[in-house]
Amino acid sequence: MSTYRTARCPRCGHVLDGPFYEPCPVCAKEGHNLNHITEFDLSGAKLPGPGTGDEGIFRFREFYAIGDGDPVVSLHEGNTPLYRLNRLGKALGFENLYVKDESRNPTGSHKDRLCAVIVSRALAEGAPGITVSSTGNQGMSAAAYASAAGLPCVIFTTPNVSDTMKTAMQIYGAKLFVLPTMADRTVLMERCVRDFGFVPASGLASPPIGSSCFGVDGYKSISFEIYEQMDQSVPDWVVMPISYGDGMYGIYKGMRDLKEMKYIDRLPRMAAAEVYGGAKETMRQKSEFPIPAPGEPSIQTSIATPWVTWQTVHALYDCNGAAETCADPEALEMQKELARTEGIYAETASVASLVAAKKLLDAGTIRKEERVVAVITSPGVKDPAVSRAALPEAPAITASVDEWKKAMKDVYGYELG
Ligand SMILES: [Zn+2]
Repeated sequence: MSTYRTARCPRCGHVLDGPFYEPCPVCAKEGHNLNHITEFDLSGAKLPGPGTGDEGIFRFREFYAIGDGDPVVSLHEGNTPLYRLNRLGKALGFENLYVKDESRNPTGSHKDRLCAVIVSRALAEGAPGITVSSTGNQGMSAAAYASAAGLPCVIFTTPNVSDTMKTAMQIYGAKLFVLPTMADRTVLMERCVRDFGFVPASGLASPPIGSSCFGVDGYKSISFEIYEQMDQSVPDWVVMPISYGDGMYGIYKGMRDLKEMKYIDRLPRMAAAEVYGGAKETMRQKSEFPIPAPGEPSIQTSIATPWVTWQTVHALYDCNGAAETCADPEALEMQKELARTEGIYAETASVASLVAAKKLLDAGTIRKEERVVAVITSPGVKDPAVSRAALPEAPAITASVDEWKKAMKDVYGYELG
């Protein structure tokens, strides 16, 4: 049975009484944009065992705001592997480094957990369609789930999005539109929601408050799976790449559920990996409100945003967490190292978690013997052009052994005997 009770502003307690995508009206009057956050009554609730219940993340459906008997839209998301990175861990100086590989979801990112819940709710409510502003992962996921539900999906994007991402969004059935700027795409998405009743799978508010509070609960399943995969325990640290921080906040909520149900007695510490350092600066100043950190365009497009949300910052405060930045050259270097040591070709924004973990280790914030789970959110094959620039041009040669031997040495520095 669903344990969902209500959604409330985490700052002032205002109960959600309108569309989920509107910020809390009380805090808005004071000039602050906040999302409502779901609340559950977990007295008597238990985790279902692996292999029981509904498909994908809906095995945990009682922990989402999904009505009993309502249809759910699953593409067998979740149940992603968690394993130890022995070679990379050793190279970086960790004794217990693990990865939770979210690139193994159906559309190749953790967003599938978010969209599974958003689209299921939209279907149950009889919504006419789904709309999203996206640089790629969220759009791909929304498109696939909308199609599975038989709903149209309208995506607004910008010209800098890779052809691979555009192709993927369209192959999943989305009606894709390219707008000149990020602000332009929000204008049309807002009309799509307010005039035509489509359900937004990304936030409308500016400054951003995060995605649907109901959808973010889908990320709680990451924590439940980690708990099962680590033999009914949680790590000392979970390191997550963040944009606004919905993924990290959802994982934190899952950990809090585990604590409330008395499966664990303390929350793991969480670390946010970001491009520009908004969360890091906010924490340094111990500010109640997020401090934006603008910056130059980055190749880590999935997380290159200046804003982090209120609830994400407060989750970091609550678990005694940390935040660290990842610059583009650091991401490219880690992308190669992860691929060459562990066979995982992750997107640059994903390996930000490993870059941040290494920096926190070097700073003494993370101790080398602590168990650290870095979340990989998406694969590198979605945007290979950014990796291409950091690799040598593959030499074009004729079938001449001499030519081949020379290129082996000149391009790859390998001398054949
Ligand atoms: Zn409020």
